[in-house]
Amino acid sequence: MYRKNVNTFKILVVFAFFSLVSVFLVKQDSETLVRLLQWNKLRTADVYITVKTSQKFHETRLQLILDTWYNDVKKGNVSWCEIAFITDHGDETYTRKTEGLLVTTKCGDMHSTYQLCCKTGFEFDQFMKTLRPRWWCHFDDDNYVNIKRLLEVLEEYDSKENVYLGKKTKEIDSVMYNGKEVFFYFGTGGAGYCITRNLANLIFPWVGNRTFERTCGSIGTEDDCSMGYVINAVKGVPLTESKFLHSHLERLKNIPEASLTEQVSLSYLKENVIRIQPERAAFNESRDPTRMLSLHCLNQPRAKICHRP
Ligand code: UDP
Ligand code: MN
Repeated sequence: MYRKNVNTFKILVVFAFFSLVSVFLVKQDSETLVRLLQWNKLRTADVYITVKTSQKFHETRLQLILDTWYNDVKKGNVSWCEIAFITDHGDETYTRKTEGLLVTTKCGDMHSTYQLCCKTGFEFDQFMKTLRPRWWCHFDDDNYVNIKRLLEVLEEYDSKENVYLGKKTKEIDSVMYNGKEVFFYFGTGGAGYCITRNLANLIFPWVGNRTFERTCGSIGTEDDCSMGYVINAVKGVPLTESKFLHSHLERLKNIPEASLTEQVSLSYLKENVIRIQPERAAFNESRDPTRMLSLHCLNQPRAKICHRP
């Protein structure tokens, strides 16, 4: 009798387990399901994204991110990445809108090398506080990030190695350091760059724990350039270029329209925007001057903002 009860109990437990799994799977959309079933792929929350922003851009640039690619960070119950927005003043509205992911620094709210290095150092420290993610990716708030493509591209690299993935703007840069000219490459901050945790540990003494302002001060260059100097010139880790990263320092109209959905990051600055044929664009230029809404609808046609009444 006792044995029979135990067996019934076991069957019930197995049944309950499979019911739970099927309820979970049914709640995911097909794209999420496909990724969940690909065990060799990056697992969820393997990537930690920080976006540098400033109070003056909350209602414009940050809002645009929340209207578009922020919605791809989490799909159903699954968070594909962790994300934090690093800013300079507390803002209740955007703390609520980001569900607490807006983090305030005391770095100041100016576009000066010192203050931007302080913020980038803070972004790095936020990543170092986490344990799980294998990659840290920085983006500016005028970036559009295609999360699915970001994960696909990162999967091509070994996250256990020292990897510095970015897009250079200048062929090569140099600084005078201790009376000598030092040459190095760096990934433009405005296109976004990613580094592995291994590499983050390696550069920690120059970047982590609020040291980055001092590092930038001694090299005398901006945050992205100083980051490249530490990684490339000090640590000898090369920049791995990804053609899928883009800042507004390049002519964005030159990116073929058919390849827009393949890109990991895109950007905008005044007239320098991507080109989408009016017939394919979900929004006209007056409603969507940055073209980021229309881009989002090319990437995610089923997104709420893309449904016309
Ligand atoms: N930024 C900032 N504080 C400022 C100005 C800009 O944190 O006072 C951030 C901004 O949100 C963006 C990055 O720095 O993520 C680059 O700024 P922006 O795009 O305005 O200028 P760029 O360097 O691209 O010319
Ligand atoms: Mn910019």
